[in-house]
Amino acid sequence: MGSDCNRVSVLIVGAGPAGLATAIQLKTIRPQIDVCVIEKSSDLGNHNLSGAVLEAEPLHTLLDSAVPDWRDSDAAKDVLAKKVSKDNVMFFLGRKLSFNIFVVIKLAKMFGLGFGQMMHVGDYSVSISKLTKWMGQLAKDLGAEVLTGFAVEDIILDESANMATAVKLVDQGLDKEGNKQPNFVEGEIINADFVVLAEGCDGLLTERFVEKANLQRQSPPLYSVGVKELIKVTSEQYEKFGDGRVVHAMGYPIWTPVIGPGMFGGGIIYPGEKDHIAVGMIVGADWKYCDFNPQDALTNFKNHSFVKKFIDGGTVVEAGAKMIPEGGYYAIPRNPATSSIGKGNVMILGDSAGFVNMLKIKGLHNAIDSGIQAAKAIAETFDRPEQAASKYTNLIEQSNVAREMTSAMNFRQTIAKFGPLQGMPLSVFGGLLPKFKVENDHEAMTTARYRYKKNHEFDKDTFTAMAATEHREEQLSHLTILDPDICKTRCTPAFKSPCITFCPAGVYETVHEEVKPANPSNCLHCKTCQRKCPFDNIRWTAPEGTGGPHYRRM
Ligand code: SF4
Ligand code: SF4
Repeated sequence: MGSDCNRVSVLIVGAGPAGLATAIQLKTIRPQIDVCVIEKSSDLGNHNLSGAVLEAEPLHTLLDSAVPDWRDSDAAKDVLAKKVSKDNVMFFLGRKLSFNIFVVIKLAKMFGLGFGQMMHVGDYSVSISKLTKWMGQLAKDLGAEVLTGFAVEDIILDESANMATAVKLVDQGLDKEGNKQPNFVEGEIINADFVVLAEGCDGLLTERFVEKANLQRQSPPLYSVGVKELIKVTSEQYEKFGDGRVVHAMGYPIWTPVIGPGMFGGGIIYPGEKDHIAVGMIVGADWKYCDFNPQDALTNFKNHSFVKKFIDGGTVVEAGAKMIPEGGYYAIPRNPATSSIGKGNVMILGDSAGFVNMLKIKGLHNAIDSGIQAAKAIAETFDRPEQAASKYTNLIEQSNVAREMTSAMNFRQTIAKFGPLQGMPLSVFGGLLPKFKVENDHEAMTTARYRYKKNHEFDKDTFTAMAATEHREEQLSHLTILDPDICKTRCTPAFKSPCITFCPAGVYETVHEEVKPANPSNCLHCKTCQRKCPFDNIRWTAPEGTGGPHYRRM
């Protein structure tokens, strides 16, 4: 790392929409403040994966003040080329039947019910990789340092544990046993006055900070797992689908009345760049089926007659997986003494804080909005960094982020508590409902089997190849099984080692009768294993910088 970033005023960890919005806003209102954004992927956007439907207002607000003529740029025209003009909300019953239930959403909106927020007309269907690349360039143009290939492993607090003094980068050049190789470089310490945690879902540093600074959540941080493919189709198929349409489908293959399965989530179909269609499957990580793999559900979804006609015969050109934070309002990590989202000079943003509105199934706009608020907080407390997190939280509470998170506060918990069948209708009562006690996702596993499981294994090798993931093979594994004995004596006999099945990249294998993260270099950084191992027996740490997937068009 160059000397530019060894000591900075504002260090932003994670170059996603939230972190880059902070950099852009801060450089707009206080250009003299030095801002450094560090990102573990080798290039901007490589680790960013999302649906992604973007509610554009916060982005417009950000850019209108930062780059007044931004709308004229080629990048803006490319990233925001697809405005949503047609909303399909579908219910799939079995492999062939489908019903458009958008009228239910319209009625819900009319009567002021939470479901009514699930509308997308006027939004943009975007590639989040491209959005991130573009925002990164804008941040650089405004004078922020945006550095890729720098993975962070720890946050260093002062003695009081109320303030962060620095972060530590991952050591480079250890071999598989942890021995220093000739090219060993110890991870640098970067000192900062303000630390902005914008790593995305289940951020490593965020969770370290939550633990070290004793932040607390009122409810466990629930997740869902999303798998997505971008498929090259014929021009006829693309035109038939339309480049202004987005489809969200509930029901088969993850939920079927009475006979099950009973999982929360659904499938998506979005237009990609010309003659490309993105299909995805998002499943609440509180699934109970020990042989379930979201990729199996995606395969079933792609074979549903409504979906198949748009993609049949197409070629997958990119694929990926990630988790989405769904715990909502009650799962936001806060300082128990002050309720601040962070502590002292450390602020937690976007997906790292869990700002996804599950009633809209969208979080990108909240991520950008939280970035704007963090920048304002830093500007206002520049001489009093210890007050930044409190200021940031005040601004969030007055913003649309808090309004949305409050309106959706009981939705996901109600479904986690009662399941989709009873939970969905119950959630209509919104704020009138109490806060239900829910369990961590990993505690939901049972010996039940997924009824639509195919006989043959999903082709994870091809999927992983389409994510173009790579790591330096000879480095220390970034995945640890804490107690191999638990695998052998408890998990394998009861659940048949679900990590082997659900890891989308085939990282886990049985080697000499022992379950191991045998292929860590395939890892997509989705962190599903850390949250779904039924015995909470896996820990994910950051590999050397530049490793991981290379999403470009997702
Ligand atoms: Fe089971 Fe977790 Fe061991 Fe995998 S790592 S076999 S999921 S206990
Ligand atoms: Fe995701 Fe874990 Fe598999 Fe990596 S090893 S791809 S983080 S489930």
